[in-house]
Amino acid sequence: TESYIAAMDKHRDLNAYITETPELALAQAAESDARLAKGDAGAMEGLPIGMKDLFCTEGVLTTAGSHILDGFKPPYESTVSARLKQAGAVLLGKTNLDEFAMGSSNETSYYGASKNPWKATGDDRDLVPGGSSGGSAAAVAARIAIAATGTDTGGSIRQPAAYCGITGIKPTYGRCSRWGIIAYASSLDQAGPMTRDVRDAAIMLGAMSGYDPKDSTSANLPVPDFEAALTGNIKGLRIGLPKEYRPEGLSPEIAALWDRGAQWLKDAGAEVVEISLPHTKYALATYYVIAPAECSSNLARYDGVRFGLRVEGSSLDEMYMKTRAAGFGTEVQRRIMMGTYVLSAGYYDAYYLKAQKVRALIAQDFRQAFEQVDVILAPTAPTPAFGMGENMADPITMYLNDVFTVPTSLAGLPGLSVPAGLSATGLPLGLQLIGKPFDEETVLRVGG
Ligand code: GLN
Repeated sequence: TESYIAAMDKHRDLNAYITETPELALAQAAESDARLAKGDAGAMEGLPIGMKDLFCTEGVLTTAGSHILDGFKPPYESTVSARLKQAGAVLLGKTNLDEFAMGSSNETSYYGASKNPWKATGDDRDLVPGGSSGGSAAAVAARIAIAATGTDTGGSIRQPAAYCGITGIKPTYGRCSRWGIIAYASSLDQAGPMTRDVRDAAIMLGAMSGYDPKDSTSANLPVPDFEAALTGNIKGLRIGLPKEYRPEGLSPEIAALWDRGAQWLKDAGAEVVEISLPHTKYALATYYVIAPAECSSNLARYDGVRFGLRVEGSSLDEMYMKTRAAGFGTEVQRRIMMGTYVLSAGYYDAYYLKAQKVRALIAQDFRQAFEQVDVILAPTAPTPAFGMGENMADPITMYLNDVFTVPTSLAGLPGLSVPAGLSATGLPLGLQLIGKPFDEETVLRVGG
């Protein structure tokens, strides 16, 4: 813990943490030492981790990367962070994120973007770490956290993991409790580990998972021993390559990465087959209707009354308006507007209801594909990490970045991103493994 705290001091330029908690970390580490001495160690005993600043942590500033939560110290602990603590993990601090997890680059954070520790060969420009869990990914990549939590609504664990050359898994929807995680889009949000390798991810996922009566969508299923699933044996497994993930215009570098990944699995004894997920081309549009709709509802609670920022006005309505205008950034306001629009009378049927129907078709595509294969292999993102500011002017270009991650989210399936090589410019690239519902074990086994 001491060495990690020293490393955090050295890498403050990365802006990976919004709040650092070194004193708390040292106190927790001392408690871990005592438990270790008694031979009573948890699965994460003494391991110093970063916590995405979307998890409520009791008495520790929790910002969601937003101005509107100014000064908010939750009076309770999220289930996932409580479980990690119970397993012995030590909290180094709260990691940077896009505001309310809305973004793919970390640049919508009120606290300024975190930076990717990687740079392209011969190019000194700062690159984004991806988003929204970019601070967590940067922290793990820069070795200023041994591991970190992330949340993934449409790719926020997998894409930053790919951009920073680390491992990240979004478990099946319902595997980890959402209780105490600040909500973005409740039917999609899932917590997961961001780690250096698959074994760490398996261990940490085990500590984070499990039924929680406080989250009505939490699955009442036993938590498997994920680490035991890493047998290294994938002989005879059937791996699907969805042909719709090879659209015209896919970069030759990403296509080659994907082929290389398929070859590795073949060499290890798996059978690789082409599959079809016919509704893939509608996934991005569907996601950017459903996620903003849910966000507009979830973010209605930030009214300046009970906690966070308040900007006074001459009436209650004016106070609401001024608080929300000052407290939410541009991207969050854009999403609230899109969301209220697609939910409004006259447009609900045309957009929101239609999107829900397409979502069902996307889930059905996966169900049918999984009758033929055990796991699906795909790229995690269409490009390596891009430059700071490069995609900020055009939200659509930014949204396009999520093309390979949102279908999995809409279907609620587990998705793992593993580092799979470097681009011609020397930047990390990730490959994604998608599994059947609650079959994280096979996904981790193939990834490992
Ligand atoms: N980039 C996507 C979005 O902005 C996904 C974010 C996430 O998974 N939290 O909505």
